Amino acid sequence: MEQSVSFDLIVIGAGSGGMAAARRAAAYGARVLVVEHGPLGGTCVNVGCVPKKVMWNAARIGSMFELAPAYGFSLDTASHDWGKLVAARQQYVRRLNDIYRRNLAVDGVELVEGTAEIVSSESVRVGARTFHAEHLLIATGGRPRIPDVPGAELGVTSDGFFAWQERPARVAIAGAGYIAVEVAGVLRALGSEVDLVIRHQTVLRHFDALLSNELMAAMERDGIRIHTDSVIERVERDGTGRRLQCAGGHRIGPVDALIWAIGRIPNSDVPGIDRLALEIDAAGHIVVDEFQNTSVERVYAVGDVTPAPALTPVAIRNGRKLADRLFGGRPDAHNDARFVPTVIFSHPPIGAVGLSEREAIDRYGADAVHCYESRFVNMLYAPADHKPMTAMRLVTVGERREVVGLHVIGEGADEMVQGFAVAMEMGATKADFDRTIAIHPTAAEEFVTMR
Ligand code: FAD
Ligand code: NDP
Repeated sequence: MEQSVSFDLIVIGAGSGGMAAARRAAAYGARVLVVEHGPLGGTCVNVGCVPKKVMWNAARIGSMFELAPAYGFSLDTASHDWGKLVAARQQYVRRLNDIYRRNLAVDGVELVEGTAEIVSSESVRVGARTFHAEHLLIATGGRPRIPDVPGAELGVTSDGFFAWQERPARVAIAGAGYIAVEVAGVLRALGSEVDLVIRHQTVLRHFDALLSNELMAAMERDGIRIHTDSVIERVERDGTGRRLQCAGGHRIGPVDALIWAIGRIPNSDVPGIDRLALEIDAAGHIVVDEFQNTSVERVYAVGDVTPAPALTPVAIRNGRKLADRLFGGRPDAHNDARFVPTVIFSHPPIGAVGLSEREAIDRYGADAVHCYESRFVNMLYAPADHKPMTAMRLVTVGERREVVGLHVIGEGADEMVQGFAVAMEMGATKADFDRTIAIHPTAAEEFVTMR
């Protein structure tokens, strides 16, 4: 016989956003059910931030081996065992899966494993069981996009990259965003030949031009072949590997593997979702207001399934604020951060907060925008022949010269921007940066000594 159970909140998806909302709601005493059909932790833990950072760390250590002789070390060999790295990484991921499961139990959140089908705004079916709740949160994330071209199945996505047990010697990567540049950097640093295939002239087109130009130069210096203005129309395989045919006749290959890193599709096609009159935008995101309300009463959405920036801390923030509002007695709670700081784990890494120079000019007019820049070689490379550059830009507006954009590419950028993001949230001006005493010798000090 069919079982029927009632909760205050049902959450579909145990990823960054769903877990955060569920646990915060339970902490307020709400009866919460989470439904998940994959491993706990969602994209970030299993096929995103976490395994990616482990791979980036490995690549970084590889780069340090290259630098080591300049510091007097003699290394006989710096050979690398990809299989061993992947095994260690997956052990860590499994540990996190277990911690997530334990945390749900400790917080008193009920977990049902299976695919959620939406029956109505108040009920969800999982297999033969139906669950009811006053509130329904859709936190189903997204999945990688694969293009509709002949031979597309000869490529993998970032999910496939994480499944590799061996490192291919020759890899082509299609895409110009976060994942394309991160994976390209990792594979190159660990020894693969890399062809990066982009549709336009630059990678990271939506970031400050300083960052995209410097990264392109650094990637090419590291030996990554960047094919600009190249749209892949067909993929074929022969005895030598995969061959890419681009519009206009340009051919790339043979390569041993192809990765599609051309963006992600929101998982708004939850079974039964058509039973709700939810507003969905052209890209497939569930439309929400700043309180995470969808167009249907008592149905909410957070994370990558919404148009918010597809970043774990954004999903977590929005999930927690929703729980604060629904169950924590804070009817106005919502994400009111002005800026979304971000790091791209490229080689070298990039940190960015706020507006690019272009965005600032478009918003405030060219006369109101004043930028400050610095380019230098990090002291880490002083004894080495190879001297990667660090580049920084501050974007300020108005007479107060309020800092509305902060951009850096170079050694240490990944750990540099979080504190500056705090200052910018507080409305820091160039004069505040100037008044701050530098920390010497660091790279970050350049941000408070720019003229
Ligand atoms: P998800 O984490 O994707 O969780 C959604 C969950 O819903 C999944 O577990 C899925 O199985 C489940 N689900 C879907 N449909 C159903 C259903 N019908 N029934 C039951 N369960 C269902 N962000 C960063 O901030 N920093 C990074 O360094 C970073 N690196 C990344 C690297 C890669 C390769 C990728 C792909 C992403 C990266 N991101 C990073 C982005 C980050 O992973 C996402 O923004 C974040 O995971 C979104 O969280 P979410 O809760 O919206 O969705
Ligand atoms: P992105 O949106 O970052 O980049 C995808 C890029 O691929 C687009 O910007 C576009 O660039 C290009 N593209 C789109 N369609 C095609 C096509 N048909 N053929 C060729 N190129 C195409 O997506 P990702 O998949 O890299 O990552 C998804 C999201 O996950 C990111 O936006 C980010 O929010 C998150 N993420 C965060 C990370 C972090 O925080 N460090 C790391 C990884 C992912 P163009 O228009 O210039 O061609």
